[in-house]
Amino acid sequence: MKDSHTHKKIMSSACKVTDNICLPDSDLPRVVIIGGGFAGLALVEKLKHKEVQVVLFDKNNFHQFQPLFYQVATSALEPDSIVFPFRKQFKGYKNVVFRLAEVEEIQPSSNTLTTTKGKVHYDYLVLATGTTTNFFGMDSVAQNSLGMKDIRDSLNIRHMMLQNLEQAAITCDDDERDSLTNFVIVGGGPAGVEMAGALAEFCKYILQKDYPEYPASIMNIYLIEAIDELLSTMSDKASSKTLKYLKDLNVKVLFNESVSDYDGSEVTTNSGKKILARNLIWTAGVKGQFPKGIDEKHVVRGNRLKTDSFLMVEGCKNIFAVGDIAAMITTDTPKGHPQVAQTAIQQGKYLGNVLLKIIKGEGAKPFEYKDKGSLATVGKRKAVADLGKFKFAGYFAWLLWSIVHLLSISGFRNRLMVGFNWAVSYFTYEKSNRLIIRNFKHKSLVDNTEE
Ligand SMILES: Cc1cc2nc3c(=O)[nH]c(=O)nc-3n(C[C@H](O)[C@H](O)[C@H](O)COP(=O)(O)OP(=O)(O)OC[C@H]3O[C@@H](n4cnc5c(N)ncnc54)[C@H](O)[C@@H]3O)c2cc1C
Repeated sequence: MKDSHTHKKIMSSACKVTDNICLPDSDLPRVVIIGGGFAGLALVEKLKHKEVQVVLFDKNNFHQFQPLFYQVATSALEPDSIVFPFRKQFKGYKNVVFRLAEVEEIQPSSNTLTTTKGKVHYDYLVLATGTTTNFFGMDSVAQNSLGMKDIRDSLNIRHMMLQNLEQAAITCDDDERDSLTNFVIVGGGPAGVEMAGALAEFCKYILQKDYPEYPASIMNIYLIEAIDELLSTMSDKASSKTLKYLKDLNVKVLFNESVSDYDGSEVTTNSGKKILARNLIWTAGVKGQFPKGIDEKHVVRGNRLKTDSFLMVEGCKNIFAVGDIAAMITTDTPKGHPQVAQTAIQQGKYLGNVLLKIIKGEGAKPFEYKDKGSLATVGKRKAVADLGKFKFAGYFAWLLWSIVHLLSISGFRNRLMVGFNWAVSYFTYEKSNRLIIRNFKHKSLVDNTEE
């Protein structure tokens, strides 16, 4: 009894009375960051141990390594090896506070924001909220397919796939079996290409081991792309090599096709093509997500926030945007910077320096993006790399892809787990245990998918 009373006193003396979310009392300027993705995390790292109070809000208590979502979806990695808890990351950072809450609304006129857990005041606000899946207004597709923008999406894909393969072994109906074992991936960007490659390898190396009752040829993988090339942001060489790798893995690539309807068992494309498939994975587009309260005139294409060259949201003197959500429109970047991890990390680091300069009353240089190149993998030992003038494909590109991704994962234990899994899979072609832990149902079949 006495202990809990003492504890209550300590907590309340640490809280600022103007907020109804408890935060340590501090005279330092308060930087509130919404979102602990690549951009938010890089910003926290820049501001740690500095003369500012940093408050990070995220709706999850962990950072997610999105580039490897497809490996969780195809049972190559377990989810806990590619997500990392913020509290572990921030251990020993005395000026950094994490609060688990979704930010719902910003009130720029009073420098406050409303979260699902209460209100908070900020001196400087940074939006690092990233993007969500864009189904381009097609409700039937949104209801019956799965995006890949969250670790829960990856687990849903894994469960959908394993459940459907089990059901395929049960059914006596040939059409139903076809639809349960056909996979359609929409979007020929890095996420779609990597997913198609991983599924094709699952089909080649795992399917027959786990399901001896049917041949590997039973699983058809379609990759649908709206234009006439894959990886359109990379070089022609990367694009054509990727197509060759996918074809070698028996992936059916359909160019100049876009999905127009999906009822959960049959995909319809704009040209009228019909594909029986209970598995539709949507990687064809994203759109910015951010809380209410920002004037619509600052929102540009892709639902991104227009910023100046210092990442300040247009018309807001103390609100900034970084990463996928930010669109810095200049003559060099009329569509904003590419929505990739490197942009987010560079912008997060840059903004950390800018905020410290603003607080000291010093001037800053505009943001300059350094393109470090692009990598994408299409299954084991096959990848494409565009590094400035150097464009190559094959084993060394794959080795480079593996090293870069391994070093980028947060946490030593996570890196060890991923490295170990990859080494086992390299020599044995085995993946992690393919367990159906929960019963997945599409949104169209239940009010809420089980999470
Ligand atoms: C499947 C996939 C594969 C990819 N592969 C690559 C790749 O190989 N290479 C590459 O460079 N890029 C890749 N990307 C893109 C890359 O992941 C993004 O560019 C990057 O994550 C953007 O970082 P960010 O910090 O802007 O946003 P995110 O990393 O998306 O982080 C946003 C954070 O904000 C939080 N959040 C959002 N709204 C709120 C709210 N209202 N309140 C509280 N918290 C909120 C979210 O929980 C999340 O933690 C991939 C993306 C996907 C989806």
